[in-house]
Amino acid sequence: MQIIDGKNLAKKIREEVAEEVELLKKDRDITPGLAVVLVGDDPASHAYVKMKARACKEAGIYSITHEMPETISQSEIEETIAMMNKNPNIDGILVQLPLPPHIDTTKILELIDPKKDVDGFHPYNFGRLMTGLDGFVPCTPLGVMEMLGAYDIDPKGKDACVVGASNIVGKPMAALLLNAFATVDVCHIHTKDLAAHTSRADILIVGVGKAGLVTEEMVKDGAVVIDIGINRLEDGSLAGDVDFEGVASKCSYITPVPGGVGPMTIAMLLKNTIKAAKERK
Ligand code: NAD
Repeated sequence: MQIIDGKNLAKKIREEVAEEVELLKKDRDITPGLAVVLVGDDPASHAYVKMKARACKEAGIYSITHEMPETISQSEIEETIAMMNKNPNIDGILVQLPLPPHIDTTKILELIDPKKDVDGFHPYNFGRLMTGLDGFVPCTPLGVMEMLGAYDIDPKGKDACVVGASNIVGKPMAALLLNAFATVDVCHIHTKDLAAHTSRADILIVGVGKAGLVTEEMVKDGAVVIDIGINRLEDGSLAGDVDFEGVASKCSYITPVPGGVGPMTIAMLLKNTIKAAKERK
């Protein structure tokens, strides 16, 4: 069994991004810019945005965070998005989710200029992903594909199973695997017999948000197991959705939590931001 070291791979990618940003500045006078909208006081959202801002700074990418109170109105967020769509210094716009319940998240995401949609959540980019066209791909599943590539794991012809079918994780993950010619099962809360699907998979990708959901007996011998889940346990530590100890002995590759998919997500955000900058200018 080999551990897929997302932390180290992400570090390498961030260094490459920093070199590319330096060249963009020197040769083409382009400084990529990212704007983040952060609504409310959720500590996890604040922590993620802080990490993203720090990563931008280290890579030489300009970033600005629009912090808004929990009570902000729909129209005020919409005005901010419209302003950033027009701002020539901003290449990427990211709205940190979740938004408060009184806000229509779909409408907000649809207002982002698809050419600045570095999170890849706009239906335009999702449609391009489904049809195999170039566009912006959500950072977490994109990071998973990058990990598979870095470890020479080719999904072509493999049986893959994605557990979790959200618009930002599971569905784009399934689309990417399908585009890479895997045969893909997608499971969710209403799946009748989860183990029947997971135990057939050569590549098992889990993004649900339930610690210990996937146990040893649910995994095929020699499978590649990618754990996207992030769960805060009672003792304050972080865990994924996969019972790491039990599953690790059985699989060929596995990602740890923390230090697996998480760092890759941020690295892909930086990559998407420079892609946006290069394509716009
Ligand atoms: P979500 O709540 O939007 O979606 C969860 C999905 O899991 C749904 O499709 C639901 O049907 C399915 N599900 C729920 N219970 C299930 C069960 N018992 N069996 C099978 N499927 C079940 O969550 P999300 O935003 O997609 O995030 C999923 C997880 O991934 C969370 O733990 C989140 O923190 C994590 N995440 C990690 C990163 C990262 O960078 N590593 C990024 C985004 C999300």
